[in-house]
Amino acid sequence: MLEIYTIEDPDQREVLRARAHRVPKVTPRLVALAEEMLETMRQANGVGLAAPQVGVRQRLFVAELPADEEEGLAAETYIVFNPELVKRSGEQVGIEGCLSIPGYVGEVARADQVTVKGTDEAGRPVRHKAEGYLARVFQHEMDHLDGILYTDRLTDPSTYRPVAVGEEEAEERAAAVAAS
Ligand code: ZN
Repeated sequence: MLEIYTIEDPDQREVLRARAHRVPKVTPRLVALAEEMLETMRQANGVGLAAPQVGVRQRLFVAELPADEEEGLAAETYIVFNPELVKRSGEQVGIEGCLSIPGYVGEVARADQVTVKGTDEAGRPVRHKAEGYLARVFQHEMDHLDGILYTDRLTDPSTYRPVAVGEEEAEERAAAVAAS
């Protein structure tokens, strides 16, 4: 398990606010890091994690949509080095949370469909098309690589609020940890 950096710690916040460096080459060490990030993310009940969130200033994120047994869907796992947003369209507005900003959520507008290109764990070029929730996760993660947090993108500051435990907002609580 890796430590997840949070904005509550000044030194960790500095890393979260920095721009991450391009990965010159996908090395076995970086692939091992990506695997560890996936494990850490699952333990934290997240659906995405970017390298700066574990203190590594490299352009890498991981994401995973859990399997949906009722729908018969397998889990979708993504490891992307040097991701770039090459296409974006539409708009969606929704609640986001972040593993680096524990206990809070806020409303953010994102593109509804995106295409992300980058490099996979085998060093091959990849392109991922995403829409809706997954598109939101990708955009949230890629922001982390530029030191941007979702709180910079709130539709309105009044939407930023603590997650009330026990509130009848299971869906929003899920969103809070969902992100990244
Ligand atoms: Zn995040």
